[in-house]
Amino acid sequence: MKCAPTQTPDDVDIRSLREKYLHERDKRIHRQGQKQYVRPIGEFADNYEADPHMPVVPRDPISEDLDVAILGAGWSGILAAYHLKQAGVTSFRNIDHAGDFGGVWYWNRYPGLQCDNDAYCYLPLLEETGFMPSKKFSDGWEIYEYCQQIGKKFGFYDNALFHTRVTGLRWDGSPIDVRLIELVGNSDDKFFQAAMHMGIGYVAERQLKDMELAHSQMVAGVDMYTTLGPGPQLAMAMGSLGSVEVRLGRPDVGRDWIEKAVAMALEIDDQYGAVGAYFHLGYLELDFGTREKALAAFLAGLELVERGDTLSTTDQVAGIGCAIADTDPRYALRLLSAAARLRTPLALPVARQPWGPRVESGVQEARSALSEKESDAAWASGGGLTVDALQAEVRGHFSSRSGTPQRPAHGLSRREIEIAGLVAAGMTSRAIADKLFLSERTVETHLTHIMTKLGFSSRAQVATWIADQRRALAPEG
Ligand SMILES: Cc1cc2nc3c(=O)[nH]c(=O)nc-3n(C[C@H](O)[C@H](O)[C@H](O)COP(=O)(O)OP(=O)(O)OC[C@H]3O[C@@H](n4cnc5c(N)ncnc54)[C@H](O)[C@@H]3O)c2cc1C
Repeated sequence: MKCAPTQTPDDVDIRSLREKYLHERDKRIHRQGQKQYVRPIGEFADNYEADPHMPVVPRDPISEDLDVAILGAGWSGILAAYHLKQAGVTSFRNIDHAGDFGGVWYWNRYPGLQCDNDAYCYLPLLEETGFMPSKKFSDGWEIYEYCQQIGKKFGFYDNALFHTRVTGLRWDGSPIDVRLIELVGNSDDKFFQAAMHMGIGYVAERQLKDMELAHSQMVAGVDMYTTLGPGPQLAMAMGSLGSVEVRLGRPDVGRDWIEKAVAMALEIDDQYGAVGAYFHLGYLELDFGTREKALAAFLAGLELVERGDTLSTTDQVAGIGCAIADTDPRYALRLLSAAARLRTPLALPVARQPWGPRVESGVQEARSALSEKESDAAWASGGGLTVDALQAEVRGHFSSRSGTPQRPAHGLSRREIEIAGLVAAGMTSRAIADKLFLSERTVETHLTHIMTKLGFSSRAQVATWIADQRRALAPEG
């Protein structure tokens, strides 16, 4: 049996759903935080530290360079290993206190243990491994054995370090991409040297706060994803690099990268990525006083927002409000009010976002251009709009100026772009199939589609086309 890719229904507002889940999660966060947990010492220690399932075999301490130290060998660690390998990273280790892969399915062996949601959904990599759960709610032992199967099939056992409990991490303060990691644990390992790569993206940038450090991360990210070819990650990395450049006081360089992120996202039909990149471009233009350009960016972003997507709609509409606060303060206040009200049920007010102060100053600017009474009336007029009504109204209001953004003409899917990139790297279909865990036949079918869509008849033409795309997106100079 072969499963078709999941078709996500168009009318699901994934972003709002995520926010709702976060909201629910926040409600459940224990007020005592980490203090709620009991340290495994004294009478608890034996139970926690001992492995009841497998004797611990002593091993020599290890000291080595690693690209990635994956802490844990449960589903999270297994999937990290799988995706790292898929991305071509081979220098990693799963490190776990347990004696094998499995995580909770290693530790828990009590009679009657089963997963409590559908195994066909719960168990990952079923297509890739060909594994078929024996029943709807797999027994615990079956899940544990399946974890082992994955470890064997993809060669994760070669790198795994079991019965290694980590009690701390230390690094020497050097830049993060070459930092020394010392795993402090129950083994006598003195240290590991792990060149750990933090995940890149807007989040890393905000968390790191050290913009120079973030900059080196983003440059490394863009370099890495460039080698993999056009894709949403590359677009995201370029956008992140752009916003860091802006914050380092290099607005023109930053704008250039963010515009490249927009172009890349549109090129690969990554609508969600394009909305985010337009949004960053809009706020950049606002910061530099180029309001017309800001308005154009927010309007282009709004064109791509799905129906019912409250967060993306309100982000773009609030930006539009700021862009017109000087020329049309009444309408600006209506939009800023509508955006603020629509976000209230999501418990994610604009004020808590990094661009909150910019929106607040837009509100103040518009208010200062009107009397208090006029301001209050304009603000009140933003009430009662649904997200779809707001989208339609704003699009209609500016219809003469918002052009529909260019969609990619080639029509290649992300998978096809990925395969075209590997063809351009000189890989054979067999090698591509191995790398992507596909059959050679599937790769050949993708290639046929790629050539049909591009009107080509050879792999060389595909390679040249990819090289042209990369040249067009490469930084000048
Ligand atoms: C009995 C049981 C049944 C469950 N059933 C379901 C289900 O049906 N559906 C569902 O969605 N979820 C279920 N879960 C939730 C389950 O936690 C997740 O589905 C998933 O297996 C978690 O994977 P993980 O890799 O994130 O964490 P884990 O599986 O917990 O793996 C974490 C690993 O990290 C290791 N580790 C932790 N700290 C250290 C340290 N300091 N040093 C070294 N190693 C360390 C642990 O030994 C462990 O092997 C169940 C959980 C339990 C306990």
